[in-house]
Amino acid sequence: MRAARLHGARDIRIEEVPEPSLLPDGLLLRPRFTGLCGSDLHVWHAGPFGDLGPMVLGHEFSAEVVAVGDQVTDDRLRPGTLVAVEPMWTCGQCGPCRRGAYNLCRDIVWHGLSEHDGGLGELTAVRACMAHPLPDGVDALAGALVEPLAVAHHAVGRGGLGTGGTAAVLGAGPIGIAVALNLVARGVALIVVSEPSLVRRTALTTALAAVGVHEPDAALAPAAAPGTAAALGTGAGTGAGAGTTLRVVDPAAEDLPSAVAGLTEGDGVEVVFDAAGVEPAFQAGLRIVRPGGRVVTVAIYARPVAFRPLDVFFGEIDLVASCAYQDDFPSVIDLLRAGAFPTDGWVHPVAFDTVGAAFETLDQAQAVKLLVDLT
Ligand SMILES: [Zn+2]
Ligand SMILES: [Zn+2]
Repeated sequence: MRAARLHGARDIRIEEVPEPSLLPDGLLLRPRFTGLCGSDLHVWHAGPFGDLGPMVLGHEFSAEVVAVGDQVTDDRLRPGTLVAVEPMWTCGQCGPCRRGAYNLCRDIVWHGLSEHDGGLGELTAVRACMAHPLPDGVDALAGALVEPLAVAHHAVGRGGLGTGGTAAVLGAGPIGIAVALNLVARGVALIVVSEPSLVRRTALTTALAAVGVHEPDAALAPAAAPGTAAALGTGAGTGAGAGTTLRVVDPAAEDLPSAVAGLTEGDGVEVVFDAAGVEPAFQAGLRIVRPGGRVVTVAIYARPVAFRPLDVFFGEIDLVASCAYQDDFPSVIDLLRAGAFPTDGWVHPVAFDTVGAAFETLDQAQAVKLLVDLT
């Protein structure tokens, strides 16, 4: 079969590879769309982990079931079923697994990332328990977004915000945009997004416009007193986002803490989602969260940051991490079917033959979410 295999740093080749074997409790899958993300980009830069040798990346994918192992009892999984894959091989035995916190498994292996050839080939093999059937109304393209949307859904759950809450999202990459869409689905009243890249700000505003959330008219906003309903604007239109106001900040051109203060009567937002993963964003997050609020880190930090515990002490700020997902796939699939996650502006399919160029495009930050088309 044909697959795109990573041989070393920035060396990905489409070539003939052996077919994977079907496990007795597993499925053989034909990937349909496979998303590329920041984690893939990291591995693409570094080359395959350890001495694994060439590997097929791809952990964000939808697929069609080709064959079913003879120990599989879930009769929804038949040849032809379209599924989204939760790309974790967990041990089932360790403390976190026994407690149901399988995303924290001490022996976790990521399908198509740290081991097990993934979704950038004609076939891939998983355990049946990793596959979530997709209902009518969720197509293969949307199915490939379930994984990153689940990362964001879990983070928003860790934030604990309800209807009418206030939030800031640092970074409008795929996870930041997915966090914002999940916040809209929860009925959050105010979302402030900070993002220095024009490409990403444009992608974000396009995606949120598709769920009826717009920035208030900039010409009207200054006339209203800070914190009043008028100041929060009438940016929301109709539909899912009718109760949500959006404010997008370029932190290179505007002071983020001042912007947040102006929108919250100087108080700060209830929850900050850090989807940026760089020190300036982390520091800004601590300045814009209100006393008693929460900062949720969903970004993967490559470097340490300077942190003064006193900065969270006086405000009793909760610092919370969100790692991957835990029982989030079914909710995300329901929300997808309900139209909560439009692909407008941030998701772009690319041909399988151009996968090498797609990595270059992502590396140059010229796209937000690329889905490799294997149909
Ligand atoms: Zn990913
Ligand atoms: Zn485990």
